[in-house]
Amino acid sequence: MTEYCNAIVAQAPGGPEVLTLAQVPVPSPGPGELLVKIAAVGVNFIDTYQRDGTYSVPFPLTPGSEAAGTVVGLGEGVKTAALGDRVATAEGRACYAEYALVPADAALPVPASVPLDVAAALPLQGMTAHYLMNSSYRVAPGQTVLVHAGAGGVGLLLTQLLKERKARVITTVSSDEKEELSRVAGADEVLRYQDFSAAVREYTDGAGVDVVFDGVGRDTFDGSLASLRTRGTLVLFGGASGQVPPFELQRLNAGGSLTVIRPKLGDYLLNAQERLWRSSEIFASVAAGTLTARIGARFPLAEAGPAHAALQGRGTTGKVILLP
Ligand code: NDP
Repeated sequence: MTEYCNAIVAQAPGGPEVLTLAQVPVPSPGPGELLVKIAAVGVNFIDTYQRDGTYSVPFPLTPGSEAAGTVVGLGEGVKTAALGDRVATAEGRACYAEYALVPADAALPVPASVPLDVAAALPLQGMTAHYLMNSSYRVAPGQTVLVHAGAGGVGLLLTQLLKERKARVITTVSSDEKEELSRVAGADEVLRYQDFSAAVREYTDGAGVDVVFDGVGRDTFDGSLASLRTRGTLVLFGGASGQVPPFELQRLNAGGSLTVIRPKLGDYLLNAQERLWRSSEIFASVAAGTLTARIGARFPLAEAGPAHAALQGRGTTGKVILLP
């Protein structure tokens, strides 16, 4: 007999209101897959890009690639997980649900001391912060770094990890509340967006920063380029304010032999070894108490729409999670 569970389903691309609660069959794990009973779901910008059609995906759509929960079913050939294991993932499918499938090789073991809601807040933004500062651009101790949206999910984690690396961290935020959170995460200097590149120049005695991590995109791109030192690097990793339009490469020459890179997480999780390296360092830091994941908002699963609206509306800090 088919068993059913709650899941969010969007019939067609659109605004947050297209996300509605439905009853769907509990999925059955195929070869190499785990069936996971979801304890908490991570809400991410990529879910909003898929929902509104910015990224082309098939509909009807159940969004969600990030979650944490307990393994309740094993597909054929799975040897790396057992029933009852606590796992998290950034690479699940249709995770806005009570049950979801996770490829066994993308299931990250969750240390016993890390609660599952916290575990759901870490895989995507934590591994992103990790690859940005280790692999897109290897930040060295003593370097000066600009991080946009310093009180956001990636921003708070990245700031803490950069301070552990002994970098000097400047952030941008839009409000006093966000400034306070960014400072608690360790930011040395917290700026507002207006004229931030001039403030960065002033703070660095005219030199500019070694690297900018920019997930805001369209609204900050020009200022980010203008904040770099000669031979500096702009890591453009997102477009919370919109995607950056095409630009003239010659600007990199005029700006001082600059580099721009536009990375995405999937290309930095190429195999099990790379995934384990990043996730185990993130979970170990959380378990040791040197990295804190702030859950800024929790919504019931049925309120996925309002959760998207809050994230896109700049109304959130840290991580947004859904609770089935
Ligand atoms: P955040 O929690 O950082 O939320 C986005 C923040 O961006 C807002 O809180 C807001 O902070 C700031 N912002 C500035 N301008 C706008 C605007 N016009 N509309 C909305 N927000 C704005 O989100 P995440 O940490 O989840 O993600 C940050 C970025 O990183 C996103 O662009 C996301 O797509 C990207 N990303 C990219 C990955 C990759 O591998 N390439 C992986 C993961 C995320 P404030 O109010 O302080 O300005």
